[in-house]
Amino acid sequence: VSEPRRPSLPGTARHGATLPGVRLPPGTPLAEPVVRRLRDACAEVRPATAADTRDWWPLSVQWATHGLAPTAAALVVAPRSASEVAAVLAICSEAGVPVTPGAGRSGVCGGAVPVFGGVVLDLLGMAGLTSVEDADLLVDALPGTWGDDLESTLRSEHGLTAGHWPQSIAISTVGGWVACRSAGQYSTRYGKIEDLVAGLDVVLADGTLVRTGGRAPRSATGPDLTQVFVGSEGILGVITSVRLRVRPVAESERRAAWTFPSFSDGLDACRRILRRGATPAVLRLYDPAESARHLPGVEGCGLLVLDEGDPGLTSATLAVVAEECADAASLEPSAVDHWLAHRNEVPSLAALAEAGVVADTVEVAAGWSALPGLYDAACASVSALDATLAVSAHQSHAYPDGACLYFTFAGRPGPELVDAERYYRAAWDAVVGAALAAGGTIAHHHGVGINRGRYLATGPGSSPVLLAALKAALDPAGILNPGKLGLASPWGPPPWP
Ligand SMILES: Cc1cc2nc3c(=O)[nH]c(=O)nc-3n(C[C@H](O)[C@H](O)[C@H](O)COP(=O)(O)OP(=O)(O)OC[C@H]3O[C@@H](n4cnc5c(N)ncnc54)[C@H](O)[C@@H]3O)c2cc1C
Repeated sequence: VSEPRRPSLPGTARHGATLPGVRLPPGTPLAEPVVRRLRDACAEVRPATAADTRDWWPLSVQWATHGLAPTAAALVVAPRSASEVAAVLAICSEAGVPVTPGAGRSGVCGGAVPVFGGVVLDLLGMAGLTSVEDADLLVDALPGTWGDDLESTLRSEHGLTAGHWPQSIAISTVGGWVACRSAGQYSTRYGKIEDLVAGLDVVLADGTLVRTGGRAPRSATGPDLTQVFVGSEGILGVITSVRLRVRPVAESERRAAWTFPSFSDGLDACRRILRRGATPAVLRLYDPAESARHLPGVEGCGLLVLDEGDPGLTSATLAVVAEECADAASLEPSAVDHWLAHRNEVPSLAALAEAGVVADTVEVAAGWSALPGLYDAACASVSALDATLAVSAHQSHAYPDGACLYFTFAGRPGPELVDAERYYRAAWDAVVGAALAAGGTIAHHHGVGINRGRYLATGPGSSPVLLAALKAALDPAGILNPGKLGLASPWGPPPWP
């Protein structure tokens, strides 16, 4: 059995996989008899390092700069099959041991942090495609399959694509996408992950394996139980297989770009394009600051458009886009080439943290009518914080009824960790507050994890009572990913700061 590729975490090269301290309480060590049972149930059990308790949550990068891991987990358990997952969960349910699933560890909200210690369930050993049905355009993938491995296998061996291109494609997994409700850069044509998932295998907390969905399109057999687990971030069950809808690799591709005098003008063009039923795979609008950063030489608000698929459809789509952008200045399509070449580059969070800079991104969504006001309010509110160096946004995912605004903020508070934490929290509160005031959602595709837990009780669309009831029914011992999504747990309330 080959060794799985390991997660790459920001700052591990600088700070090491082992950090001297922990920021949250360290959690309770596991009793020796439980450890013995886990070793019998699963071939790979190893002590956790600090890297096993972290993900890409930027606040935890600040912590690492100060020598602190989030917390200490007792043990990493790495199953190779759904039956090993089932055996591990049954033991942990019975013994009351917290279990935190983790895979690529590219989550940016602390979702894979084992808040109360216990077991880190490392799913990277369960990887690969287990079936491909070309006629039905359905594939089954194991949860620890890296995104780029999925896409390259689909393309090179089957002429198919999932069309799911998160910026983190090379550092995230299929199971992580489903668990976090991920969005790819081509989502306007292919949909978000919730649109791509046709069914799931899930192991519940007591070790029961359930299967949702099927091999038929749509089903009127009661509520869609697949969607109960999409976005559940490991608190309701462990995903052990994902049935994905795929498409043939596109025959043709078209690129175009424009620039608008204001962000609201550009947003309105996007609205009209979607309203007419055109769904270009990429429809990405930058505000002036981000245009300057990502589109060298472009003034105003750059709009990048890319579509792929049947030539007749892409031509029709680009024709609608061109009509709705008639009043904007057109740019060379090479602006899209530039974006494609650099789209997955990320500045070094560890270097920024060491330079005293606190930075993060916040993706929210709202209806078209609310977006210009939301943009202005969030930028004004973050700019009003003393430490802020910059705040900017782009429209990254568009729908007939609204779009996602993806904000980036950076500030330089005082040198102490407490200064960084205070600023971080204030900047998040500013953007989330603007989203709530606009009637929007506080998260579009990064999920909740630890970081957004404190907002969940107030966020529109969330129903804390229903979520707590589901949790209690599916995981009565409360062992699955405790401390997340703002829910209380047998070990205490959600942490943070
Ligand atoms: C540079 C960068 C760019 C990013 N770009 C995007 C983007 O474009 N679009 C986007 O949507 N996201 C993006 N993200 C966020 C992140 O990549 C996604 O949230 C991704 O879906 C996480 O997958 P993962 O395998 O890394 O999950 P992890 O971080 O390991 O886990 C995330 C959560 O899912 C749970 N989980 C993981 N696997 C399972 C499973 N099999 N069963 C049950 N629960 C499980 C964990 O407990 C945790 O709560 C980005 C992150 C980074 C660092």
